Amino acid sequence: MDCLEIAEWGETLARAERPKPEPSATAVRIAVEATGIGRTVRNVMDGNLGDDPDDLPRVPGHELVGRVDAVGDGVTHVEEGDPVTAYFHIVCGHCRACRSGHDSLCENHEGWISVNTDGGFAEYACLPGRNVIGIPDGIDPVDATVIPDAVATPYHVANQRANVERGDRVLVLGAGGGVGIHMVQVADHFGADVTAVDAASHKLDRCAAVGAERVHDPGEENDLTALADEPYDAVIDFTGVTDLLEASVDLLGPRGTLVNLTTFPGNEMSLSPRAEVMNEVAVVGSRYCSKHELQRAAELVADGTIEPIVSAVAGFDGTPDLLGDVCDGGVVGRAAMRPE
Ligand SMILES: [Zn+2]
Repeated sequence: MDCLEIAEWGETLARAERPKPEPSATAVRIAVEATGIGRTVRNVMDGNLGDDPDDLPRVPGHELVGRVDAVGDGVTHVEEGDPVTAYFHIVCGHCRACRSGHDSLCENHEGWISVNTDGGFAEYACLPGRNVIGIPDGIDPVDATVIPDAVATPYHVANQRANVERGDRVLVLGAGGGVGIHMVQVADHFGADVTAVDAASHKLDRCAAVGAERVHDPGEENDLTALADEPYDAVIDFTGVTDLLEASVDLLGPRGTLVNLTTFPGNEMSLSPRAEVMNEVAVVGSRYCSKHELQRAAELVADGTIEPIVSAVAGFDGTPDLLGDVCDGGVVGRAAMRPE
């Protein structure tokens, strides 16, 4: 089969040929139809989630969508031909966190699809059966690539971390990117009044078109003062930019919440405990989603509630450059690869 792989952590994607993988008794082989291209792919390739040389060469791509092609003897929840996607984290399924629906906080976390297993930049991928999640039939595969991360992660934010309620004022920082533009839609679906902030101002029209009531370009100064007229109930950050994080805390109203999702090594913010106490504001992290939330994300895409924003698609040969465009901020929403 054809695939794209990295020979070393930190290197670029190169085209390769491999034998079609055989699923173990507990695994599922998927005929890949499309795989999402977002910044996390670069993060994975750089070894930031794991850089064991024994895992090389590695096929990246965790947001894969396809049809079940073969199942191991021990797999009973999907069958050949089913449309499926992948849950990103490799989790045990039986620890206290997993049992209480907090799968991404698994106490026996075993790694990630595309880090510790091969991913979806290939014609076929073998995944642990517990990572293979059925999705409704009839969703275009390229559209469906937004489900397992770009929609499921925002669903977790709105559902559990920001606890978005009807009428809440929600500010999304980095709203024009792959996860951000779906966060705008998910928050809108939860009934929020959404403000979209992105320094790539050409992305803001699209944010407005999918549900943002107000848009703002913070410019090179990371200036949010124009948004200070009315307090926000939640700020959701996809930038990891310290200036924006610190400025956004001042925009929170009583009991407001800042939700952090994007971290870089060395990336920090200062927070005044006094400011936190006086307004009872909270700063919380949000890590991926539960399997149940991924299924909810699939339903919202299937019934048209969430419009998948995938604005560029490439085959094997075009994918390395397209990944570069995504990381440079040139793509509105998500991009995707089709194995052709
Ligand atoms: Zn677990």
